[in-house]
Amino acid sequence: MPIDEYLLSGSILCGEDFDVVEGYICIRDGMIAEICEEPGRVDALAHGIILPAFVNAHTHLGDSVLKDPEITDIASLVRPPDGLKHRVLRATSTHDLVHAMRASICDMTATGTCAFADFREGGLLGVLALMRAIEAASTSGCAGAVDAVILGRPGEGKGNGEDGYDGVDEIDSILELAGGIGISSTNDYESGVAAAIAGRTRRQGGVFAIHAGEPDSTDIRDALELNPNLLIHLTHASREDLRGVAEENIPVVVCIRSNLVTRIGIPPVKEMLAAGLLVAAGTDNVMFNSVDIFSEMRFLSSLCQIDEGQVLRICTRAGALALGLDCGVIESGMDARVTVLNKDSYNLTGAKNILRSVVRRARAADIVFCSGDTGVGTGARMR
Ligand SMILES: [Zn+2]
Repeated sequence: MPIDEYLLSGSILCGEDFDVVEGYICIRDGMIAEICEEPGRVDALAHGIILPAFVNAHTHLGDSVLKDPEITDIASLVRPPDGLKHRVLRATSTHDLVHAMRASICDMTATGTCAFADFREGGLLGVLALMRAIEAASTSGCAGAVDAVILGRPGEGKGNGEDGYDGVDEIDSILELAGGIGISSTNDYESGVAAAIAGRTRRQGGVFAIHAGEPDSTDIRDALELNPNLLIHLTHASREDLRGVAEENIPVVVCIRSNLVTRIGIPPVKEMLAAGLLVAAGTDNVMFNSVDIFSEMRFLSSLCQIDEGQVLRICTRAGALALGLDCGVIESGMDARVTVLNKDSYNLTGAKNILRSVVRRARAADIVFCSGDTGVGTGARMR
C-alpha cells in the first residue's frame, strides 16, 4: 500500500547549498510539504542523513549485456555501426536485452538514483525494449519510482529525404514514445546527417543531445553548430569552447569514471563551472562502469578540485535542471525524491561534516531508505 504522508528525520541537506538542518521533513502525496527545524527524534519512517536522490544524466543501459569487455581503444568499443557494443547488441535477443537493462535500473534505484537519461541505441525497437525494462523493474518492485528520460537513436539514414536525410519517419516514431534523440558524435555521421537529425528532432519538440569532445576536440565546433539541448563529455574542450557553450546556455554532462576507464582524460569540471556552465554527471556506458553515483561523486571530489557542495549539486540538482525534472533539491513543493543514510553505520559514524562525508565516503550500503520505497508515485514516469 502506498504511504500518502510520512516524516523523515535527522540531518537534512537542505536547499541548493545543502545547508544542514537538524529536524524533519514531512512528505505528502509524493511532495515535500514541509521542512521543520526541530532536533531530536520524531515519529519518523526513517532517521539519518537526508539528501536529495541522485540524477544520473547519461547512461547507455543497452550495454548492460556486456559488463566486462577488455578495454581497448574507445572507437573499436563503442563507435557505430560496428564497434563491439553494436555487434553484441545486434546478436542479443530482445528478451536478454530487456532483462539486462532491468537489472541496471534496479541497481540505480538501489544506489540512490531517482532519475536517469539514457541514450538508447537501436531505433524504435531499442526504445521499446527500454520501456519494457523500466516497466519490468517497476512491477517487480525493485525500482520504486524512477523518472526516465529516453533519448532514442535513429539509424544513420541516407540522402534524398527531407533535409537530405531519409530517416525522418523513424525520428518521428521514436519521438512519439521518447523524450528526444541522442546521437554519438558528428564525426560518426556523413556530412549533413547529424544536422538533419538535430533539425527534425527540434521541430518535433524533442530534446536533442549529442556526444562531443570525448576522445579529442575535433567534433566540438560541429556539435555546437547543431544547437543541442544537451552535450555529453566535453572532456577535451578548450576555454574558448567552454565560453561558446556558456553563451548558448547548453548543459553539459560529464562522465569522469568512463573517461578514466577509456583513458581519454579528466573532464575540465572546474573550468566548466568557472565558465558558468550547468554541469551534470552520468555514469555513461554500463560496459565501462557500474551505474553507482556514489562512486561518481568520489572521483569528482578527488580529481576535479571542486568543493563537496559543487559535487553533490552536479549529481543531483544540476542533472534535474538539465533534464527538466522537478527534483534534486530538498525544498518545500519539490518532488520528494530523497535518500536517507544511516548516520551510525560503520562507515559514517562520527561524521562531523555531513556534506563532506556524504560526498567523499558514503556508499550504497549506508542507505536505509529511498523515497521510491514508499510506493507513492510507483511506476516509471517516462518522457
Ligand atoms: Zn555516452
